[in-house]
Amino acid sequence: THFGFETVAEALKEQRVGAVFSSVASSYDSMNDFMSLGIHRLWKDHFVRNLNPGRNPLTASPSGDKGWNILDIAGGTGDIAFRMLDHASTINNDAHTKVTVADINPDMLTEGKKRALQTPYARTPRLKFVEANAEKLDMIPDNSIDLYTVAFGIRNFTHKEVALKEAFRVLKPGGVFACLEFSKVNNPLFDAVYQRWSFGAIPLIGQLVAGDRDSYQYLVESIARFPSQTEFRDMIQDAGFLVPGKGWEDLTNGIAAIHKGVKP
Ligand code: SAM
Repeated sequence: THFGFETVAEALKEQRVGAVFSSVASSYDSMNDFMSLGIHRLWKDHFVRNLNPGRNPLTASPSGDKGWNILDIAGGTGDIAFRMLDHASTINNDAHTKVTVADINPDMLTEGKKRALQTPYARTPRLKFVEANAEKLDMIPDNSIDLYTVAFGIRNFTHKEVALKEAFRVLKPGGVFACLEFSKVNNPLFDAVYQRWSFGAIPLIGQLVAGDRDSYQYLVESIARFPSQTEFRDMIQDAGFLVPGKGWEDLTNGIAAIHKGVKP
C-alpha cells in the first residue's frame, strides 16, 4: 500500500537525519575536526581549488555572463560556500560569482547564517541561504546553474537517484556536478585501522564531546552504507552525466572521494 513498509522506513530515515543534524548543528565544526583529525579542512580546500570557481574578467568574453551561479546543496554551515566565494574573489578576481546554500535543516542554516557574518559576503547578493530538500528543488529553474556542489551530504539523502536527477535538471549544459563524500578505503591495512577508528573511537568521541553517542553512531553507519567509488560513478552516469576520466579522485586512500559529472 501507499503506507507500506518502505514509506514508513523512509519517513523515519528523514526524521532521523533531521534529528542528527539538529543535534550536532552547534558543535558541528569541532566534531568534524575531532573525527577527521582536521583533515576535512584540507579536503574541502582541495575540492574548491580543483573546481577553480569564478570567471576571471581578463579572460571572460565581454558579452558573457558575469561570474558563476553556484548551488551548494546540503551546504549546512557554509563551509564550501565561503571557500568558493573566497577563491572566486582572490584567485580569479571575480566579484560576481554567487552561491546559493541549500539545506533541509533550518538549524544548520541558522548556524551557516551566523558564520556568514564573519565573512564579507553576508547580506550581499553573492550569498543566499534557502531551506530545501535536494530531491525537490522547485525554486531552482532548469538549466540555471554553472556548478552544483554537495560535500558530505549525499549519503544522507533518502533517494540519491532522485537528487542526482534534480542536479542534472538545474545545471546548464556544460555545467558541472561535483561531490565530496566519504568513500571506500582502497588499502586493506589502512582500512583495518580506519574501521577501528570509525566504529570504535568516533561514537565514543561523540559521547564525550557532544554528549551524543547515537548521532555519531549514525554518521559512521551512513558512511559504511554509502556506495563504492565505481557504484557511485555509475549512478552519476545513470542520471545522464558524462564523467571525466575514471570519474573520481580518491583523497587520503579513499577515506573520501571527489566525483564529478558534466551535463552534456
Ligand atoms: N556541506 C557541509 C560540510 O561539508 O560541512 C555540511 C555537511 S553535513 C555532514 C550534511 C548536511 O546535509 C546537513 O546539513 C543536513 O541537514 C543536510 N541534508 C541531509 N539531507 C538533506 C536533503 N535531503 N536535502 C538537503 N540537505 C540535506
